[in-house]
Amino acid sequence: MSAALLEFTDVVRHFADPSMMPGRRRVARALDGVGLRIAPGESVGLVGESGCGKSTLARLALLLDAPTSGRIAFAGRDVGGFDAAARAEFRRRVQAVFQDPTSSLSPRMRLQEIIAEPLRAQGVRAAARLDAAVAEALTAVGLATDMARRYPHELSGGQRQRVAIARAIVARPDLVILDEPISSLDVSVRAQILNLLAELKAARGTAYLFIAHDLLAVASLADRIAVMYLGRIVEEGDAQAVSAAPLHPYTRLLFASAAMEDGAAASEGEPPSAYAPPSGCRFHPRCPLAQARCANEVPLLREVGGRRVACHFVPAGHGL
Ligand code: SF4
Repeated sequence: MSAALLEFTDVVRHFADPSMMPGRRRVARALDGVGLRIAPGESVGLVGESGCGKSTLARLALLLDAPTSGRIAFAGRDVGGFDAAARAEFRRRVQAVFQDPTSSLSPRMRLQEIIAEPLRAQGVRAAARLDAAVAEALTAVGLATDMARRYPHELSGGQRQRVAIARAIVARPDLVILDEPISSLDVSVRAQILNLLAELKAARGTAYLFIAHDLLAVASLADRIAVMYLGRIVEEGDAQAVSAAPLHPYTRLLFASAAMEDGAAASEGEPPSAYAPPSGCRFHPRCPLAQARCANEVPLLREVGGRRVACHFVPAGHGL
């Protein structure tokens, strides 16, 4: 196993409800003991319904927030001990693409300035070098280099997301956090952006953490998939293996839902609140296979034939 680029070890992130009186505040268990690793050049997909903790994990991975407990390491170093220089180095090596390219791109800046931002942040000032890097990034994302003088409002939604990707790759990062990068786009544009991300990964060897609720999109791009439910990872393994034979009942529900155009399967019972997660297996109120044990005993994330699954009733070797 190669050394991890980014590694979460038993990461917990709880939030107190600010609307309640101090001392009586409820606690939202957004992340509860998450372990996840991304190797150099690896594409890891993180899926789950809204409120499962995906966005909290993305913010932690970008150092926009800190865990309540647990360890996050980048290139073997605990990010909790980063000084200003280490943070600057991290910002060079890790970039992000967010869901809404309209709000993530400044409307008053030309594409040239937007895309060059990460390089300027590193102290690159030579105009010729900036121009060449922006032109290369525009070409890489399939946009004409003469678009550098345009403003974001002159572009379509798909073109704006291509610009966001150009900005993310211009400084040749090791890792890009893709936080729902296609969910705000028209269906016709989503496949184009997915293809672009796959081409860039193949050409540059950039690692991705691809966070989305669209399981099929994630399965098409990721080397490995991790499935989250109410702050915990319930299944994690090779993307093709998980897609072909999901083992955890929740992963099966997600795939069944993705196969149905109206998402009916997922809407059968909404996920409980992170303020009051169910006891034992958090999925037990919605699980068709639940038994008495499930309400009392937390299932451990166990190795099952090369992947990890948190269910009492998936025996080793099951389905493999
Ligand atoms: Fe369902 Fe029980 Fe497995 Fe949880 S532990 S997924 S409730 S069968």
